[in-house]
Amino acid sequence: MERQCFIKLLCKTFEENEMEDLLDDNSAELLYRFADLLVETNEHTNLTAITDEKGIILKHFADSAAISRYIPQGASVLDVGCGAGFPSVPLAIIRRDLAVTSLDSTGKKIDFVLSAKGKLGIDNLNAVCARAEECVEQNRETYDVCTSRAVARLNILSELCVPFVKVGGLFVAMKSDKGAEEAAEAEEGIKKLGATSTETRAYRLICEEMAIDREIRIYNKISSTPRQYPRKYSQILKKPL
Ligand code: SAM
Repeated sequence: MERQCFIKLLCKTFEENEMEDLLDDNSAELLYRFADLLVETNEHTNLTAITDEKGIILKHFADSAAISRYIPQGASVLDVGCGAGFPSVPLAIIRRDLAVTSLDSTGKKIDFVLSAKGKLGIDNLNAVCARAEECVEQNRETYDVCTSRAVARLNILSELCVPFVKVGGLFVAMKSDKGAEEAAEAEEGIKKLGATSTETRAYRLICEEMAIDREIRIYNKISSTPRQYPRKYSQILKKPL
């Protein structure tokens, strides 16, 4: 990946999607180095199917950055099922005010995130290898924001995420443009978990001729999640709330 071309396309893409305020020389350089590490590691460790320059910039970086405007200044943020670090790593790079935790049950993905943190000096990033539903007890209602992308349908995802959120905090679900059906299916369950829908935004992100349609669904935690949630994963799957 050629550095100058990558940074030029990265800046152009953030500008075209009205997110240029999120990039400066330092964050652009770190995103380039993170992309380089991702592609290099992916040659021997399967982390992501997206490895082309344009795909990384649009589907990994711009998509991750798009949730930034919904996250309050100084917030603690948990990314459930971060995989190779999306959205958490780009978010930690462009928002140094946040305290970001990446969570995934797959060791090699968390090893990659921790190695990127060390090599790039991303001090506001932490990474934990665990299943969300199994590690919630030590972290119940401790995060201002919990987010997640491409992990499960909303009626399952909400039980994994909402218990981590403080009362008054946010659950920010990153979805494709087909989120409405999932949202309707999850509505009652999300109420049982103590949250309520506050905002839904649909938007198109572009990078030259490539485009993706995305939806962000934001839920406000209005009361404590009853202690019986989350249930065991087998029960969550068998009988979503
Ligand atoms: N969020 C990343 C992205 O958008 O590129 C990765 C998405 S990947 C399709 C789903 C990830 O969720 C996998 O890395 C998997 O290990 C993780 N995962 C699934 N269920 C989980 C759970 N209950 N707790 C923690 N991680 C989970």
